[in-house]
Amino acid sequence: MIENGVTRRAFLEGGGGVTAASLALMASPAAALLVARGVLGAVGQPMTNGVEFPATPPRRKRSDSVGFAVVGLGDYALKQMMPRFAQTERAHIAALVSGNPEKLGRVSDAYGVPKDARYSYESFAKIASDKRVDAVYIVLPSGLHADWTAKAFAAGKHVLCEKPMALSSAECDRMIAASRRANRKLMIAYRSHFEPHNLEAMELMARNAAGQLRVLRTEQSYRMGPTSPDDNWRVNRALAGGGPLEDLGIYGLQAALYLTRQMPESISATSFRPTGDPRFSEIFASVTSQWRFPSGAVAQLATSYDSSGINFVHVRGTTGALIMDPATNYSGQKMTLDGNEHRVFKSGDPDIQFSRQLDHFVDAIRDGARIRTPGEMGLRDLRLIEAIYVSAAAGRTVKLNSDGTMRG
Ligand code: NDP
Repeated sequence: MIENGVTRRAFLEGGGGVTAASLALMASPAAALLVARGVLGAVGQPMTNGVEFPATPPRRKRSDSVGFAVVGLGDYALKQMMPRFAQTERAHIAALVSGNPEKLGRVSDAYGVPKDARYSYESFAKIASDKRVDAVYIVLPSGLHADWTAKAFAAGKHVLCEKPMALSSAECDRMIAASRRANRKLMIAYRSHFEPHNLEAMELMARNAAGQLRVLRTEQSYRMGPTSPDDNWRVNRALAGGGPLEDLGIYGLQAALYLTRQMPESISATSFRPTGDPRFSEIFASVTSQWRFPSGAVAQLATSYDSSGINFVHVRGTTGALIMDPATNYSGQKMTLDGNEHRVFKSGDPDIQFSRQLDHFVDAIRDGARIRTPGEMGLRDLRLIEAIYVSAAAGRTVKLNSDGTMRG
């Protein structure tokens, strides 16, 4: 690990030039060693090994630190989550699991993971007897979450599973049952529950800071470049389900639930898949839905892989409006409350969401804390996603029970 906190990101954010901090870093023997090993790039050069490093010096770990095996060394694991272990007191990377031996070696070296704690998917079952591993973090394509969660529980480990929990409520049911059988914890990595703006938004809405909630509008979209199901799991139905809703729209779905604090009683939805576009030969280009809540409030949700980038939540009540734009990004959150007064919120650094999520899971494992984003929440969300697809396919409004299952 880089010990004095100068990172690849810092190089890049600093414009890639020689900064005082980077010069100080290069003067240290530790840095020189990292350069020699090819882990750290030369001053001003972005590193080319694809491994991101913690933005802060690693914190001293407590003796009861939880060892995680990270399964799937993709973009999100490498660039977002793995560097954040350094910001926790009680979580560390104990093992890595990958289908790419070269990458496994390179990333393991960078994170100091011993050779006998590097697993392939084929050798994963051996992790059961690896006492260094307490928990498994599943950060694979979404269609693989259910099977790998089952394997991790079979190995006797706790599971932190990326969103969406799975691609169907039936898979979620099986994951929850496996967790109970194994007597191990299951948490879904809904990071917005640990992000300061979203937490403050929840509080504001809980005390009716915009009056009685009437309409919530939200959209999460971006325009995907040319690709096809063979090249990109995100457009492959077996691995991605319907596509943008499970991947991006799930943030809006979540916000609609944690800001209204209600379950919808009915949903009507529409989906769109253009013909002749390899991006959308198996998944939807866009999915929109309208939800009606028992209070009379309405939520309008849109998500797309084929429109320009956006991520907002607007909540309008009887006396004002809460505007979050961007709402659930990795960083850069902006939030205002308009009404009798205009308030701009600086709730805290969004970057904390990643390590807080890890800390929270560790508290559940070590101290028995109640999990804020349990498997049951992931299941609830998949039920709603299923209702959205049923409504869109049938062209009718679907009525729901309070647990999100469809009526009739
Ligand atoms: P990537 O495609 O970047 O990485 C997925 C990794 O999974 C691959 O690098 C590969 O790792 C492994 N893998 C195993 N089998 C397959 C397969 N059949 N096809 C492709 N990859 C495979 O995806 P992301 O990192 O962006 O997403 C991974 C998960 O994280 C998804 O569930 C996604 O929804 C979630 N995510 C969550 C975010 C959040 O903010 N909470 C943000 C982004 C993603 P290897 O080569 O090591 O085997």
